[in-house]
Amino acid sequence: MPFYEYVCRKCHKKFGEVLTLKEQETKKVRCPKCHSQDLEKVIEPFFAVTAKKSGSW
Ligand SMILES: [Zn+2]
Repeated sequence: MPFYEYVCRKCHKKFGEVLTLKEQETKKVRCPKCHSQDLEKVIEPFFAVTAKKSGSW
C-alpha cells in the first residue's frame, strides 16, 4: 500500500498515513495533533529511498 506523508499547516506536525488510492481520495486525513484538515502532502520518493538502501550497485 502507498505511504503518504503530510505536514499540518497549523501546527507543522509531520505524520504519515498508509492509504489506498481510493482512501486517499475519499478519506479525510486529519492532523493527529490538532485535528486540522489543512494539510500539505509531502511528496517523498519513499520507495526510491528504500531501493537505494538495499541496492549495492
Ligand atoms: Zn496540526
